Amino acid sequence: MKLMAPDYYGRFRCIADRCRHSCCIGWEIDIDPDTREKYRHIPGAFGKRLNEGIEDTPEGAHFHLSQDEHCPMLNKNGLCDLITTIGEQNLCQICADHPRFRNFFSERTEVGLGMCCEAAAALILQSREPVQFVALEEAQEQLTDDEEDLLALRSHLIAILQNRTLPLEQRLEQVLKETQFPLPTLDWHKIYSDLERLDDAWDTVIAQLSGKDLSLPCPISDALQIPLEQFAVYMLWRHMPAALEDGDMQGHAAFCVLSVKVLAALCMENPTLEHCIEAARMYSSEIEYSQENMDALLDALWSE
Ligand code: SF4
Repeated sequence: MKLMAPDYYGRFRCIADRCRHSCCIGWEIDIDPDTREKYRHIPGAFGKRLNEGIEDTPEGAHFHLSQDEHCPMLNKNGLCDLITTIGEQNLCQICADHPRFRNFFSERTEVGLGMCCEAAAALILQSREPVQFVALEEAQEQLTDDEEDLLALRSHLIAILQNRTLPLEQRLEQVLKETQFPLPTLDWHKIYSDLERLDDAWDTVIAQLSGKDLSLPCPISDALQIPLEQFAVYMLWRHMPAALEDGDMQGHAAFCVLSVKVLAALCMENPTLEHCIEAARMYSSEIEYSQENMDALLDALWSE
């Protein structure tokens, strides 16, 4: 099986106790059945504490979060007691994977780093060179016609996005033109406000969308031309393969452009890299990790 990844993938490092938005706080952490079984046999006082911190339900096991939504393994120094006591190799699948994501083709797997992680968002948006995609494991692959079509279109759109002879505003419009999907003129502030919410602070952030017509080219400052290009390429790499499930290549490409325009709008008043990284982290957490929100945005795109 061929394994493909963006070239920055291997440079990712979790910043653990320096992370301001730890994935060990506020997210339900499911434990896969094999790891759950392994945890039952961890001996001693730590094994007892570990098992007491797990809730078993008919749907599966997960860590029982504290009242302030901390994972019971997260200590006051911001480190994971499970890693420091019995080692990283004993993490459950979700913790070992996070923030990585995978997309599966018939004879290829694509991986990437999810931007809900601030370290991943910083790594991606700080990269200066156009991102390339590399094989981490080589293999002959026989892909279906649909897969070939999708990969060809995505490569074409990524090439447009990485054409730095044009301002990014124009490149985004070119992507929409290639996919024949002009963004509809809608009240995007209302649409985003009506979505399922993870962090109430998101309301204040998206207030900046109020009165903005995202169907028009969005002004992007010089400082954010490259970071937003990296964001756009990340979005296409991550989300276009969903079209293999629903056949909606146009809609998924338009969703990626919409997301870049929203992020550009959220950075208009404060066009610094630092602010852009934080806004991208929030966007990813609020939107990309909620299938309900993703579906609602695709529906809105197709509503006209
Ligand atoms: S969000 Fe990222 S940097 Fe923060 S603790 Fe999780 S993996 Fe580490």
